[in-house]
Amino acid sequence: MSEKDVSGNNFLRNLVKEDIAQGRLAEGALITRFPPEPNGYLHVGHAKSICLNFGLAQQFGGKCHLRFDDTNPAKEEQRYIDAIQEDIRWLGFSWDGPVRYASSYFDTLYEYAEHLIQAGKAFVCELNAEEMREYRGTLTEPGRNSPYRDRSVEENLALFRAMRAGEFDEGSKVLRAKIDMSSGNINLRDPVIYRIRKQHHHQTGDKWCIYPSYDFTHGQSDAIEGITHSICTLEFEDHRPLYEWFIANLPVPVEPKQYEFARLNLNYTVTSKRKLKALVDENIVDGWDDPRMPTIAGMRRRGFTPRSLRHFCEMVGVARSEGVVDVAMLEHAIRDDLDKNAPRAMCVLEPLKLVITNYPEDKVEWLSAPGHPNRDDLGERQLPFTREVFIEADDFREEANKKFKRLVLGKKVRLRNAYVLLAESVVKDDAGKVVEVHCSYDPGTHGEDPADGVKPKGVIHWVSASHGKRAQVRLYDRLFNHEAPDRGGEEFLDHVNPESLKVLDNCWIEPGLADAAPEQSFQFERNGYFVADRLEHSSAAPVFNRTIALRDSWGKAESNG
Ligand code: ATP
Ligand code: MG
Repeated sequence: MSEKDVSGNNFLRNLVKEDIAQGRLAEGALITRFPPEPNGYLHVGHAKSICLNFGLAQQFGGKCHLRFDDTNPAKEEQRYIDAIQEDIRWLGFSWDGPVRYASSYFDTLYEYAEHLIQAGKAFVCELNAEEMREYRGTLTEPGRNSPYRDRSVEENLALFRAMRAGEFDEGSKVLRAKIDMSSGNINLRDPVIYRIRKQHHHQTGDKWCIYPSYDFTHGQSDAIEGITHSICTLEFEDHRPLYEWFIANLPVPVEPKQYEFARLNLNYTVTSKRKLKALVDENIVDGWDDPRMPTIAGMRRRGFTPRSLRHFCEMVGVARSEGVVDVAMLEHAIRDDLDKNAPRAMCVLEPLKLVITNYPEDKVEWLSAPGHPNRDDLGERQLPFTREVFIEADDFREEANKKFKRLVLGKKVRLRNAYVLLAESVVKDDAGKVVEVHCSYDPGTHGEDPADGVKPKGVIHWVSASHGKRAQVRLYDRLFNHEAPDRGGEEFLDHVNPESLKVLDNCWIEPGLADAAPEQSFQFERNGYFVADRLEHSSAAPVFNRTIALRDSWGKAESNG
């Protein structure tokens, strides 16, 4: 699937260009919108839609609105409204004008509904849900007209007004558009446009006890706002005739057009607010912004940068054919960004103490090390070298074959940015576990090879035991261990990776890292990319989240082809 041509164009960019070239759209007149329903946090799929809608407006000097499509008060909450705004801003976009709400148009939508009734194009129906289903027909069979379809305009108007006045129970009546029960498109079989819902609404309070359907709200809101290009995902393709029917049959100020693109699907990931909410509600994750969540807030806490997410959205492109993107591509995007931009640092995750027996007890040398191998602008950092240091327990063996290029008893290794050591003896606990390694160091080896010309084969990272700081490190991995956790009849909750989080409480960081600002990213040399936790990191109690491991597999297989 070629989602994008080489010039960085996609079919929607081409379409807008064409509209401008043909004079259908004036220069700078493009208006798009991002229309979330505030019933959950935004996820990576929404990031694609945001980059697309805001990106088009930026590219063509137009505008992009943020509009909450808030027609379902039972599922919507103010905290989602707040989180969505924060996520969009964090991604680097700002909407034109105020935050908009479809609920601000409820008065107009109500007038539109009366307009349809007056024109004989809407009626109050009293079929219950089950009868409604029965009358609707199927994909292969036409539907049947409701017995209430031929009420007079006066009767419909009176009943609709009584619905609005709260005179009927929920579910007892609906307002339906009168279109065509035999249409091949089920969306045109007299769709419901208003329901009775005795619900408090987060924006309109108790003003309304009838609420417009999503289909009746969305396109008209676009028209009211002067949206020129209403871009949505492919599942709305079958709704387009209805979108156009409303626009054609209502006194709307402008006539927006709907265009569809394929939603983003990622393997090893679920991207449905309903399912993400289940993960939160069932305490499988620690909230919507858990670093394992594919939500924008979760990815942010995990250490993704806005730039890496925007780059990823550009890489996946925009197409009209459904596909599944490899999550390794998303991982590649953040790894690539951090490789270029994250300062280097050392952190020992599972410490083993080395005692350098020929190094004076009170001595401290501050050794300088580059902030980044190719980025002079990231300066240098100062590492305290002391008699006792920590290395990874994994980096030492009493005996090993030649393939093990780290510290072995009787052999040498280089401590990164510091000296060459020789391991001389070990101290074991009662269980026979090595708890300390005694070494000697060669004072002539800082930045120099040993005088005897025998170079150690390995270089390992380390942190001063007396001057380093203790930290908590959270090792995150993919939340699902199944490639398609929610497709093909799979129950996604059965495929949660039990090892998606490992918390290490006795990690040691070079002292400067304790002063990292929340959300600052680093490469911990040899261990991966980590970020100071946005909410819980402090210099007194440092907390780092692993964003992603060092190794990148994405594109390796394909790059030959
Ligand atoms: P979900 O299925 O996760 O609940 P939704 O489509 O119901 O998502 P909305 O709040 O209605 O969520 O979405 C706002 C906008 O984001 C819509 O225009 C929708 O088409 C788009 N969008 C949602 N999911 C994706 C996705 N996976 N890829 C691209 N765009 C998406
Ligand atoms: Mg939706």
